[in-house]
Amino acid sequence: MPVIKPTCLRDLKFRVNIADVVSRTVALKRAGGSRFKGLCPFHNEKTPSFHVDSDKGFYKCFGCGKAGDIISFVRETEQLDFTEAVETLGKRFGVPIEYEENTGAPTREERSLRQELFDLHETATDHYHEIFKQTTPGSAGEWMQAYWQNTRRFTPELADEFKIGAAPPDGNALYARLHKARHTEDAIRRSGLFFTNENAPLTLHNVRPRFRGRLMIPIRDHQGRVVAFTARQTDLTPADDPAHEAKYVNSPETPIFTKGNLIFNLDRARAAVAPAAPFVLVEGQLDALRCWSVGIKTAIAFQGTAITEAQLALLHRYHTQVECLFDGDAAGQKAALRYLPLALKAGIETRFLALADTDPSAKKIDPDDLFRERGPAAYDELRRHALTAMQFACRAHLPDPEHASAEQKTNAARQLFDIILNSESEVIRSQFIREIATHLRLPPEAITAVQQDFARRKRTTHATASTTAPATTSGAAAPTRNEELETRNPGAESAEHHLLLLCLHNEPLAPAIAHLILDTGWIDDTHVAGALLKKTLNHFASDDWPGRDHLDEHGILETDAEKTLAATLLFDPPKTDDPRRAIDQTLTALRNRALTTALRQIELALANLPPDSVAEQTTLIKQRIELQRQLRQPFGLPAAA
Ligand code: ZN
Repeated sequence: MPVIKPTCLRDLKFRVNIADVVSRTVALKRAGGSRFKGLCPFHNEKTPSFHVDSDKGFYKCFGCGKAGDIISFVRETEQLDFTEAVETLGKRFGVPIEYEENTGAPTREERSLRQELFDLHETATDHYHEIFKQTTPGSAGEWMQAYWQNTRRFTPELADEFKIGAAPPDGNALYARLHKARHTEDAIRRSGLFFTNENAPLTLHNVRPRFRGRLMIPIRDHQGRVVAFTARQTDLTPADDPAHEAKYVNSPETPIFTKGNLIFNLDRARAAVAPAAPFVLVEGQLDALRCWSVGIKTAIAFQGTAITEAQLALLHRYHTQVECLFDGDAAGQKAALRYLPLALKAGIETRFLALADTDPSAKKIDPDDLFRERGPAAYDELRRHALTAMQFACRAHLPDPEHASAEQKTNAARQLFDIILNSESEVIRSQFIREIATHLRLPPEAITAVQQDFARRKRTTHATASTTAPATTSGAAAPTRNEELETRNPGAESAEHHLLLLCLHNEPLAPAIAHLILDTGWIDDTHVAGALLKKTLNHFASDDWPGRDHLDEHGILETDAEKTLAATLLFDPPKTDDPRRAIDQTLTALRNRALTTALRQIELALANLPPDSVAEQTTLIKQRIELQRQLRQPFGLPAAA
């Protein structure tokens, strides 16, 4: 195996900025000085705990504990071995890689199959695109360009930008080219671009191309590498194509292509998303290309109709808002309803751009037609009439609430609550419940009943989830994606949450609360309510609280989660006519929770002591007595506060 010179490694690390490497995969925000922050690519999270220090050249995740340098980052995110990762970085950033004498550069055989498949797809993309560009009269390229411009009404520039290609109806030129470029038999067989005979060596005569007479759309992964193709049927598609009737044929799954992990155009869209420019999710690749061509650079499409948790987790890394623009027909509506629960579960906020609403005849219209005919202005109009997730779901399940029977309403409510059950956020759930009540025109007592039923079901789901999901601590191995998705959202009904609510609505009492508990270590700040409570009390303690109506402009609310929480808490005052008593009760609950935990630990330690450790036993028993004494003491604000 070739060995890379240590001086070359030093040079590489010196010349390449780690923020440039990481930002290909993770959207980074400045976090002061040479530090950046973003959502961790190694575990699923909703608030950023992945830190990059561009001076030190290191990254570290405070959520899952992963840490390393540019090379380990590329190794892990692109599944490469050490040498491949160094070579990839060298190529990407123009740093020449030197090898130790006598070990030589890697031969083609030594590269991984995956790396070869990436190269092979690059060659295939060029090949199909060159055929597309042919101008010879009667050639497949000439025909396909006419189809692209006249039937699809796309520009030649767009074809160049996305390297749109043409698969010729006959011949075996692609195989010949790959063979000549000395690609291995194994890679050609496993590329998915050919039908091959497993039992015979490959020759020009027993390899059949999978795609013939079709328009070729290269599918890139989120790092911009071509990993597959989608092939659109045309009049050139021969009758003996095994999938002749299929409008679209995709590459099969290969070592570099997993359908459920891929989002079309994410490589470009992720660079264009911004607070005011969320992802625009459309159904097909050509819809996404149409959006792109009219200036909607954040358009993406899922690969095929199956939408997976993995895709949404990937999306969530770059932006948490999506505008869903599916076809106005029944299939489009169904796809949107399949998407919604998964989006809620992934913490993605969705608005629906309803095609049927802007134009009564729009039932048959898809985004491609719409933007082709009316250009980018149509997008602004759709956005003005966008529906919230619940408005959309309500309309889908009960289009005419005015004339619906009680039974129809109950059925609709049940289906809608099933959708809401996927959201981890208490705040979002109660907002949805209000929206449902309004739309279904349900009487208040019916809503209360459903709500209670709902709370019970949510608790049951949580109970199951917390027994199956292991606790994760900093430095521990990252949980798998499924475990992570199953963990509940802690803190929504915690003592911290209640105390924060009481502080915000009883500001004069807050300094005394801070004085009592700020240094006790009782506040659990691993969830958003606890973190915000701690921050709030710190401001009161140091006498620089700006007042509850000025939190945003004083930068106290740092994350979206904190902003949402503060907004909800300020909106709903606590239901008590004796705030002082409510505060004492909450403080006591907070104290008791901490002391009981400590007590349990002491009892556990006592039970596990070796029989002869008398001194330790005495100490522990003393501590236990002291804790039990404290637990009996009343706790709360001093009378004068
Ligand atoms: Zn992490």
